[in-house]
Amino acid sequence: MDRRLALSDLEILQTLGTGSFGRVRLARVKRSGDYVALKILKKYEILRMKQVDHVISEFSILRVIRHPFLVNLIGYTQDDRYLYLALDYVPGGELFSYLRNVGKLENDHCRLYAAQITLMFEYMHSLNIVYRDLKPENLLISADGYLKLTDFGFAKTVEGRTYTLCGTPEYLAPEILLNKGHGKPVDWWTLGIIIYEMQAGIDPFSDDDPMAIYQKILKGKVKFPRNFDKNSKSLVKHLLVADLTKRYGNLKNGVNDIKNHRWNAGLDWIRLLQKQLDMPYRPTIRAPDDTSNFSHYPDSGTLSPPVRTSDDPFIDW
Ligand code: AMP
Repeated sequence: MDRRLALSDLEILQTLGTGSFGRVRLARVKRSGDYVALKILKKYEILRMKQVDHVISEFSILRVIRHPFLVNLIGYTQDDRYLYLALDYVPGGELFSYLRNVGKLENDHCRLYAAQITLMFEYMHSLNIVYRDLKPENLLISADGYLKLTDFGFAKTVEGRTYTLCGTPEYLAPEILLNKGHGKPVDWWTLGIIIYEMQAGIDPFSDDDPMAIYQKILKGKVKFPRNFDKNSKSLVKHLLVADLTKRYGNLKNGVNDIKNHRWNAGLDWIRLLQKQLDMPYRPTIRAPDDTSNFSHYPDSGTLSPPVRTSDDPFIDW
C-alpha cells in the first residue's frame, strides 16, 4: 500500500505535543476531512544528533504494525527540512495528564490498562519488535477509552539482544543500566513500573536525582503502599525482577504467565482485544478536531535548517 502524501493534501493545525526532534501537530487531510496527528521531525536535528538509524527504525516499524492499541501510520511525506508522519489522531490526551489529574487508578481500571499494554507487547514481540520506551506520556486515550501507544522512536526489531542505552530514567530496566545487552524482557519490566505507577500514583524508583533513581533500580527493593492491591502487587513483583530467568514474560510460558496471573482472573482477553469491554473512563471529545485534552504549546516560529539532497538519508522515502 502506498501511503505517500503531498504536503498540499494537509492543513496543519495546532501542536499536540513535542518530542526529541520536533513536534506533533493536528492536521486535516483535505480530501477526506479526516484529522491526523502529524509527527514532524527535523532532518537537520536528526543528522546532528546522529539518530538516523533510530528514525529509519521508527519508520520501518510504523509501516508494518497494525493493531487496535497502537497508533497506525496513515501516510507520510517530506520536504528539505522535515519528515512528516501522519498517524491516527488519538483525541483523549496522554495517560500522563489523566494520571496527574486523578492521582491514581482504581484496581479494575488499572487492570484493564495493564491488560491492553500486555496485548500491545505480545503483538510487537511476535514481530520481534522491542518497544523500549513505555511511559504514561506515550499512552494516549482514544475516544472509546481504550489506550493507544505512540512514539516508536526507540522501538527496534531485534532477535536476541541489543546494546543502545535508551528509555526514560524511572523506567530503565537493570540490564540496560548494566549494559549487559537487552531485548524483549525490558518491556515486561516497564509493564511492572507502570502498573505500580498507576496504582500508587508515583514510580517505584522515583527520585529527583537520576543517579539516585539508577541506584534504587539496581538495588531492586520495591516498597508498596499499604493500600496496594495484593494480587497486583504479586504480578509487579514477578515483573520487577532483575534476574531475567525469573522475570514474567520471559519464562517458558511467555506472556501467558502474565495473562493467567490471578490479578487477571476472569478477564476476557478476546473481548478486550475486540474493544467490547466498557472502559471506566471515556474522555470528553466535543468534535473530531477537539484538542482540549492536550496541553497548549506556543508555535515555534523558527524553521529548522534545510538539509542538502546529497546529505539527506531520507530522500528515497
Ligand atoms: P512523540 O514525539 O511521538 O513522543 O510525541 C510527542 C507527544 O505528541 C506525545 O506525548 C503526545 O502528547 C502527542 N502525540 C503523539 N502522537 C499522537 C497521536 N497519534 N495523537 C495525538 N497526540 C499524539
